[in-house]
Amino acid sequence: MQKGIKKFEDNFIASVRELFDRDVASYKFDGLLEIEDLATELTQSIGHRLIEEFVDSKSKEVKENNFHCKCCGGKLKKHRKSELEYRTTFGEINIDYDVYLYCDKCKQSIRPLQPLLGIKREKISFKLQKTIVDFGVDESGQKSSEKIKHIIHKSILIELKL
Ligand SMILES: [Zn+2]
Repeated sequence: MQKGIKKFEDNFIASVRELFDRDVASYKFDGLLEIEDLATELTQSIGHRLIEEFVDSKSKEVKENNFHCKCCGGKLKKHRKSELEYRTTFGEINIDYDVYLYCDKCKQSIRPLQPLLGIKREKISFKLQKTIVDFGVDESGQKSSEKIKHIIHKSILIELKL
């Protein structure tokens, strides 16, 4: 983990610790089961928000910058923007500034947001794909397939050819 981010975690945990210390006789926090649920919920929420903020930051970068053609150096024109629903281990993220830029003269085009996000046009993150596969390998074929179908959206199964 990056040092700057670790510091945020340490500060956050110190604040939560204060809440625990003030919660004499488990008035607000009713035992470990509740803390475990809280940790799961928090991890999911923070993960989703982190990804959304990263996408938002990179989308802003694309909006605020001019991009030039690699062939002639001319300014690329905005052709259209499309939305992309992207599934991650922390839930679905809507990528709404996947703009398509092109050069009239050279017929060159780019989608500048995708390399900034480190994605191509896939709809499922590599991490989620790996999680699904890992989830399936320790069970019998039929059992894991039933489990996966139960918890994961059908379109993902089609895409992963499960
Ligand atoms: Zn050009």
